Amino acid sequence: MIKGKIHSLESFGTVDGPGIRFVTFLQGCPLRCQYCHNPDTWDKNRAVKYEYTPQELLEEVLRYKSFIRNGGVTLTGGEPLVQAEFAREYFRLCREAGLHTALDTSGAICNEQTLAVLDYTDLLMLDIKALDEALCRKVCGSDGRNALRYLDEAQKRGVKVWIRHVVVPGLTDDDEQLDRLVEYLKGYPVVEKIEWLPYHTMGVFKYEQLGLPYPLKDVEPLSAERIKTIRERYKDVFPVQK
Ligand code: SF4
Repeated sequence: MIKGKIHSLESFGTVDGPGIRFVTFLQGCPLRCQYCHNPDTWDKNRAVKYEYTPQELLEEVLRYKSFIRNGGVTLTGGEPLVQAEFAREYFRLCREAGLHTALDTSGAICNEQTLAVLDYTDLLMLDIKALDEALCRKVCGSDGRNALRYLDEAQKRGVKVWIRHVVVPGLTDDDEQLDRLVEYLKGYPVVEKIEWLPYHTMGVFKYEQLGLPYPLKDVEPLSAERIKTIRERYKDVFPVQK
């Protein structure tokens, strides 16, 4: 029986999809984003607090069913597609139980098994690190093409998409790059919304705990005015905004 390696659980999540959600953070991620605030999720072989089968996780979720009935469940990480088989089966069971399913992913792994997770996904929250290949490599160590393939597949299947994009001063905070990203996304009618996320430094202490160097140590958090300006700039293109 397949077991999911789970980094942590959040029973009243309000920022990872619509409504109140039961959010599961899966262990393991192939990327190394410079701004990652969960470096403790990277190693998929790291000891975790919970190892559940999809059914066991659903049973845990159902304890909160009355709270999440207008929200649903979210799988995030780390990178949930590292455990694609578990993710697909868990979402299948959630759908059967009448729960809305949201997959928060970087789309970093794109193969038959990971695409099959979309069979039971109601909302794909796709984190596009950067459209430009070279910039994307700089941001996360990968060229980002798999994320775009994942988006293509969501479009083909008619799965709703919310794009997430972290704006980092000196890295992805560039009007020209953001314009290009928005132009690109206009070609995908399944995209309902872009969540512009300001870079923050709340995860820095984890690097200290893990004895890892923090790549953006001289970078200040993105200002509230700047993120507001970005949200204003594109609000007519994707009117549903965070
Ligand atoms: S994809 Fe997410 S978990 Fe993985 S390194 Fe990037 S920010 Fe961290």
